[in-house]
Amino acid sequence: MPEIDELIESEIRRPTVFIDESVLYPEYVPKRLPHRETHVRKIAAFFKAFSDSPGRTSVRVVLVGPVGTGKTATAIAFGRAFSRMMQRRGVLLKYVHVNCSKSSNPASIFRDIKNQLGLPLPDRGLSAREMAIGLLRILERENMYVIVTLDEIEYFIKSSSPSGRFLLLRFYDVFKEDVKRLNFIYVTRGSPTGIQAVLDSITGSYLMENVIPFQPYTAAELMDILNDRVKEAFYEGVVDEEVVESIARLTGYDTGGDGNARKAIAILHAAGKLADKELAEGRASRVTVDHVRAVVAQEYQSLIDVLDKIYHLELHEILVLKAIILALYRTGESFIPMGEIERTYREICEELGEEPRRHTRVYMLVMDLKRRGIIITKTSMKGRRGRSTYVGFAAAPLDKLLEKLNRVIEEKRLIR
Ligand code: ADP
Ligand code: MG
Repeated sequence: MPEIDELIESEIRRPTVFIDESVLYPEYVPKRLPHRETHVRKIAAFFKAFSDSPGRTSVRVVLVGPVGTGKTATAIAFGRAFSRMMQRRGVLLKYVHVNCSKSSNPASIFRDIKNQLGLPLPDRGLSAREMAIGLLRILERENMYVIVTLDEIEYFIKSSSPSGRFLLLRFYDVFKEDVKRLNFIYVTRGSPTGIQAVLDSITGSYLMENVIPFQPYTAAELMDILNDRVKEAFYEGVVDEEVVESIARLTGYDTGGDGNARKAIAILHAAGKLADKELAEGRASRVTVDHVRAVVAQEYQSLIDVLDKIYHLELHEILVLKAIILALYRTGESFIPMGEIERTYREICEELGEEPRRHTRVYMLVMDLKRRGIIITKTSMKGRRGRSTYVGFAAAPLDKLLEKLNRVIEEKRLIR
């Protein structure tokens, strides 16, 4: 057995293609946002009202577009830069970013805001309204202003009550303050025309004029985005020139992809990881198009495998599989308990108007999926109540599989 020191030493000295892999993580906010200059400019135009006269109005803008078009990155980049700029001018402006898929009711959103601001406001036992009042009082005392981004706001709108929506989205209709200390950037997935429900909740048709649409990226735009990341993440000259081009072509909106920068960066990251592994084994020295191909093929091959296995299954077994994938996707966990699967399965059945199978039957269907090698299970001891089953799924990206599953389910229901 090597000594611990040696283990650590050899890992640290291991040759690698990466200077800084964290640049490729989805939450990394780059210094530059190529092809989003006009978007930043438009947001800035709305916030001119703030810089002219802080507190006179509450600025509100809506960012709309498909996944991976840079909405989150742009909101954060703008918010940080603009508040820094205002602070230099002696206005205490802070930026707060709330993801509504994590904090989805008004109380937890206000809690998130005050925690990010580091404000000494107790939250136990307070209603959302009371927390908002407490928050306003402290902002007043500190003479502080805030930009709050409510990201993935569709989650909040779907899961909140009308009064909760009113409280959060019509904030200054509820709290008639003279000095408006909160400004809002609302971010939502979808198309500018498809967001009427969102706008109706935030209301005022006047907000329609404050909508800034984000378009899917073209291959040429993705090349610029990827090239920036290559420079920061990898050692110079380690990534073949064609790598960026091939990823951009795979993902570009004008070349048959969905124009999703997150996906493009994820492929670059995965190809880099693969090359890195081969480097350690002495089998590669650079990141090549072959690594890109291998990564993309892996992703699609596992997808094809799963679909191949499920086509002949009965409808309810596929619905149970969808419940598993959906529950894993929503929670972000790698394993989920049986109870959660059953709940999700019932929800899916209700949506489709299908009579759900009974508990024991659902369990048998899960076990059958396991027997076919489509899912994996593990059991854990759960106190005195004995063993309980957890289900996971290793192959294929979940979002893509969900899309395909929906199509299979539609076909199955048609031909029955
Ligand atoms: P959205 O919120 O629209 O789903 P994100 O802002 O999360 O998209 O962007 C997805 C990924 O792509 C993030 O890693 C982000 O940093 C990166 N990204 C998106 N647009 C750009 C851009 N114009 N320049 C650099 N990186 C970008
Ligand atoms: Mg986002």
